[in-house]
Amino acid sequence: MAHLFFDFTPIYRTLPFLQTTPPAFEPTPKHENTAPHPKPPRTPSRSIFPKYPISDILPFMRKKVNWSFRNTIFLSIILVLGGSAIFFQAPIREAAGNFYDRHLRKPSIGMEAVDVDSLSMKKVSIEEILASPEQYGLNESMLIVNKDYKVSREESFDIVYYKDTDVPMNRAIVSDYARLSAAVLDACGEKMFVMSSVRTYDEQSVLYDEDPVVAAPPGESEHHTGLALDVYAYQFAGPGFLDSPVGKFVNKYCGDYGFIIRYPEGKEAVTNFSYEPWHIRYVGFPHSQYISDHRITLEEYFDRFEKDQYYQIDSYLVSRQDGPEYWIPETYEAISVSPDNTGAYFITISGAL
Ligand SMILES: [Zn+2]
Repeated sequence: MAHLFFDFTPIYRTLPFLQTTPPAFEPTPKHENTAPHPKPPRTPSRSIFPKYPISDILPFMRKKVNWSFRNTIFLSIILVLGGSAIFFQAPIREAAGNFYDRHLRKPSIGMEAVDVDSLSMKKVSIEEILASPEQYGLNESMLIVNKDYKVSREESFDIVYYKDTDVPMNRAIVSDYARLSAAVLDACGEKMFVMSSVRTYDEQSVLYDEDPVVAAPPGESEHHTGLALDVYAYQFAGPGFLDSPVGKFVNKYCGDYGFIIRYPEGKEAVTNFSYEPWHIRYVGFPHSQYISDHRITLEEYFDRFEKDQYYQIDSYLVSRQDGPEYWIPETYEAISVSPDNTGAYFITISGAL
């Protein structure tokens, strides 16, 4: 019937999916299957470029290859730099921070000589101070010990045990070490430990005999006074201490807790010690803040004091005096008097200004 009106066959043929009967399967004979296919005759490639002899094309190609090679190198450098900038973001920021801290940052804590005539002062004899240690805040926080100012085997210091531990340290340290320790735990989420604190003359002799390059000779170590602590974090001791968050925190902020890095980097000629990021030394306020802020050593700090002169450091009055009598303000809130092991005393006063 349909043929009468319209022949649909050509349309069906052009639309294979409409064809209901699959094409008949005709397996090719085996010998034909393995025989190599005859190569179709090569058709000339269509190109919009005219043909050139290869000798003309080669220089152009070489140039093109070189150009893309340069681009590849350029892109790779950008990718490597960009990738490392992202990957090493924290170390780069830390290095930049350290560089700024060492070379560009201006100290924020000053040291101004104070005209004592503007303050009402009184004289106190050393006997009076030694007789009332509590009244004058007598302590040992400012003792310096080095190759020039040694301590003898017979000297003893004000050593106590830290809290309920068996770690001995100078009495002057205890409360501020507790603050530093709590701050470390708070900031880093882990504890700081004490590897070595007080050492006797004989213990230092043993260490010195074992390694005279690293250990100080007996009598020249601050560990005798109990003012120095060798600290570490779990799995990070010695030079590796700096690789731990605790080490970084301690090296950056110990000045806020009364401690200094006693043998800082770059001051080997002054201290006679190589950099020891684990050896912290108590000096108290405002000395620790000033020394850290100015990136100086305890030796250099001592040198900044003219004897008997009062200085304002932060909100404190500080002077280094010697002799039988000492000038102190008539009124103040707190006083700290410490011998310095050179024959003088550091007098540190708060609440007098
Ligand atoms: Zn030490």
